[in-house]
Amino acid sequence: MPKTLEAVDVVIVGAGAAGSVFAAVLAEAGKSVVVVERGRDTKFSDLYSSQIWSRRLKWAAPLVIEEGPDSIWPNFNTGHGVGGSAMHHYAVWPRYHEDDFQEQTLYGKSLDWPFEYSALRPFYDQVQDDVGISGDAKQEPWRPPGAPYPLPPVLVSNHGQVLKRGFDALKMLTSPIPMAVLSRPYKGRNPCIWDGWCDAGCPIGALANPLAVYIPRAQKAGARIVANAAVTRVLTDSTGKKASGVEYFTADGQAVVQPATAVVLCAFTVENARLMLNSGNSKHPNGLGNSSGTVGRYLMSHPAIGVSGLFKDDMQNYLGATGGQLLCQDVFDKKSDPSGAFGSRQWEIGLALKPNDLLGIAMTRPDIFGKGLHEFMLDGARHMGSMVGVCEDEPVYENRVALAPQKDKWGMPVALIKYQTTANGKKLWATGAAEGVKIFKAAGAREAWHGPPGGQHIMGGTVMGKDPKKSVLNGSAQSHDVKNLFVGGPGVFPTSSSVNSTFTAHAMAMKSARFMVDNWSAVKS
Ligand SMILES: Cc1cc2nc3c(=O)[nH]c(=O)nc-3n(C[C@H](O)[C@H](O)[C@H](O)COP(=O)(O)OP(=O)(O)OC[C@H]3O[C@@H](n4cnc5c(N)ncnc54)[C@H](O)[C@@H]3O)c2cc1C
Ligand code: SF4
Repeated sequence: MPKTLEAVDVVIVGAGAAGSVFAAVLAEAGKSVVVVERGRDTKFSDLYSSQIWSRRLKWAAPLVIEEGPDSIWPNFNTGHGVGGSAMHHYAVWPRYHEDDFQEQTLYGKSLDWPFEYSALRPFYDQVQDDVGISGDAKQEPWRPPGAPYPLPPVLVSNHGQVLKRGFDALKMLTSPIPMAVLSRPYKGRNPCIWDGWCDAGCPIGALANPLAVYIPRAQKAGARIVANAAVTRVLTDSTGKKASGVEYFTADGQAVVQPATAVVLCAFTVENARLMLNSGNSKHPNGLGNSSGTVGRYLMSHPAIGVSGLFKDDMQNYLGATGGQLLCQDVFDKKSDPSGAFGSRQWEIGLALKPNDLLGIAMTRPDIFGKGLHEFMLDGARHMGSMVGVCEDEPVYENRVALAPQKDKWGMPVALIKYQTTANGKKLWATGAAEGVKIFKAAGAREAWHGPPGGQHIMGGTVMGKDPKKSVLNGSAQSHDVKNLFVGGPGVFPTSSSVNSTFTAHAMAMKSARFMVDNWSAVKS
């Protein structure tokens, strides 16, 4: 028998990026808030600057089965425990561009968001002020309108300066990379010490992971976090029109019902769709809030290009933040690809390097072993440069999350992912891969190469739209079908841009949470 708890105003599923913003805004507005988190209750004191240790921040359980020809790289892109994937994210935080919101209207391609950039701008500005972004808006001609960054740019070491030579030679503009990393002390938080351990979770709180800003604010306002609690279903009342709470399982297998006036799913892209599909009942035969049949659809992942090279210079590649030092969006124009492919691209330049693990020096040459590897590591530690190209993905109906026949330990079907990178995405990637090597050679690299296609960020699956027949959520990320059910995170985006998703996910969560506060009577009726 499930144990039923006392009802609260809002139950939030997932204590990551979006969940922490919802929790802070709603608790500060006086709502009683419980955040239910499947992973452990990670604290700053649990974080160690070690790649081996930091694997604990990622998903360990086989909760995803991939069937399509391409992967969305779930192990790399996800996170587990309080802080979610945002705990070990790199905090590259540019804004989406104005045309990312209107691709159908402007280009006759992909989808439109149900609002324009101007509707999200105040929330970008507010989040930026809350978390402290370092950058220089004047040097980013591509940036849409918005308040200037509150902090000066992040460090540019020799790494960034050497790679900039290549961009300069090819007449490509670079700017300081906008990062949610503190270049100076800010609102009582410590500044960055440029040791490049962001992938293991910044233990000093210089990077805007959820533990640094919104979780403490939420807890101060009374929000409670229940860790080691895996939500398996959103429950509804007898009419099926309203969500009535969630069911979760504790680590020792106890089923618990947390009743609530409103439910917010912030369990990240794949999991939000999985939960909605698994919450079907006689009133919602295809899954909760799925009268449109689009829950799980339009799954997106940015095709990513890792470019590496060896230089004669001492690169100081151990210095800086993991996400990079400089940005180039000169290649953002969605109609500029020489192959005719539609979509934008960007470059993140000068990623701080560690010797091993996924983004380490060794992994860039998985083909060499023994003495050759030893010599390469010695050379790379001093002389290697690194950058990452990010390409836009399209929202394609067939790319989707469904439920697999296999079940997890709580009896919930695991997510079945069918994903194929589009022809446009592949062409953008190929253009970027050749361009990246050219830039490195122009910067003076003795040797330059790119890695195989990768996948950064996971978006879509619970997309917003104006038409309830073609989308899951409205412009407040509120379910078209179930008015007290909301969703947070990049899963709500109808387009992917080529811009990293977390700043926009924060701004969107804040927009949505403010809507809940301002329309509470309607939400609860
Ligand atoms: C290595 C890495 C680098 C990145 N770098 C950048 C970057 O530079 N810039 C950028 O913009 N983005 C970056 N990202 C992406 C960013 O981390 C995500 O976009 C963001 O964290 C998504 O926010 P979210 O709230 O949707 O999910 P998350 O932050 O992942 O939070 C989801 C939470 O839900 C919990 N959960 C899942 N299922 C359940 C369940 N059934 N019951 C209860 N809880 C559940 C999870 O444990 C997790 O804590 C990076 C990600 C990774 C992994
Ligand atoms: S480089 Fe800066 S932001 Fe990254 S882990 Fe170190 S102190 Fe934190």
